[in-house]
Amino acid sequence: MDIDELRSDTPGCAKVAHLNNAGAALPPRPVIDAVAGHFEQESLIGGYEAAERNEAAIAHFYDAVARLLGARPDEIAFVENATRAWDMAFYAIPFADGDRILTTTSEYSSNAIAYQQVAAAKGARVEVVPDEPDGTLSLDALEAELAKGDVRLVSLNHIPTHNGLINPAAEVGRLCRAHGVLYLLDACQSVGHLALDVDEIGCDILSATGRKFLRGPRGTGFLYVRREILRTLVPPFLDLQAADWKAPNGFEMREDAQRFETWERHVAGQIGLGVAADYAADLGMERIEDRVLGLAARLREELSARPGATVLDRGARPSGIVTFTVDGRDPAAVKAAAGERGVNVNVTNPLSHGYDPHARPAAVRASVHYYNTDEELERLLSVL
Ligand SMILES: *Cc1c(COP(=O)(O)O)cnc(C)c1O
Repeated sequence: MDIDELRSDTPGCAKVAHLNNAGAALPPRPVIDAVAGHFEQESLIGGYEAAERNEAAIAHFYDAVARLLGARPDEIAFVENATRAWDMAFYAIPFADGDRILTTTSEYSSNAIAYQQVAAAKGARVEVVPDEPDGTLSLDALEAELAKGDVRLVSLNHIPTHNGLINPAAEVGRLCRAHGVLYLLDACQSVGHLALDVDEIGCDILSATGRKFLRGPRGTGFLYVRREILRTLVPPFLDLQAADWKAPNGFEMREDAQRFETWERHVAGQIGLGVAADYAADLGMERIEDRVLGLAARLREELSARPGATVLDRGARPSGIVTFTVDGRDPAAVKAAAGERGVNVNVTNPLSHGYDPHARPAAVRASVHYYNTDEELERLLSVL
């Protein structure tokens, strides 16, 4: 990778050392131009007219995201964020009394809240599968639970927001297939970060956001739903994009994943997200993954060598998300001190991962991307 060239293609790199890529990454120039360019056209010729003119770029979003995931374009929906994308699929699952939902301790709280809501409304049971000692989901424990039966859904995150680990998504997929159980993967932190292939992972549903490691615009996200199960899912909301009106008083749902969409949307964002997906795929997800995991490993090593700093990350093979504390310092104060020196980091919030028995009050979170440099890591370390 030509890091200098990639940085000069990223205007934000000249302004900040951005180590908050798990929050929202810096978009590259082609994404900025696509979003700003479309919005400008909307302002000059009208929103509907701009959409007609850029029809091909809007449609290309589906091809671009499908290519990134090894999916088919008709399995992709554009949704305004990862949470709603996830919701549109989750709330479409016809849960019944006694159905079991299996998840993991590191689950994102928005998902956990939805499990609890559905459990209360439909009589489903939410069960948190035990971890391995390293914090990743235990495959043995999952298999034992699957063998007991009544599992309607296995639903987990690929990379949690707060503890650096990577869950064994593909191994979970193999177990789900062997037991014929539906598998929903929250890939919000792993898309644009790890090389992903939906067939290798074996998930039936996958959701992600645009703004994190994919470097797309805020207010964008997408949903993947495997073609074979698409028709078994009835979205909780349907509009005239998701379904066709059939006179005199009926309707017919779309057969593709666009049944999870709404008609009105952030069109410039959809175009920009397609450009971001192309940008990542063109660079090569394997190369991106290597670079991100390599930088994070280096940062962990340097942090561990500093007296007073404690790296908290878990998992056998940690991600690009690095969490740590500094003795005697409030994580928020570390974040503020870094910010004053032009280094962006974030602070984890225990309420965003409510099932986690290891939840700490807070930690500093430095999440690296391929455009970060050793010099930027040094800048963070010098703050400490
Ligand atoms: C950020 C995040 C989400 C939510 O994504 P939004 O686009 O903010 O809705 C869901 N799951 C995980 C693991 C996340 O990190």
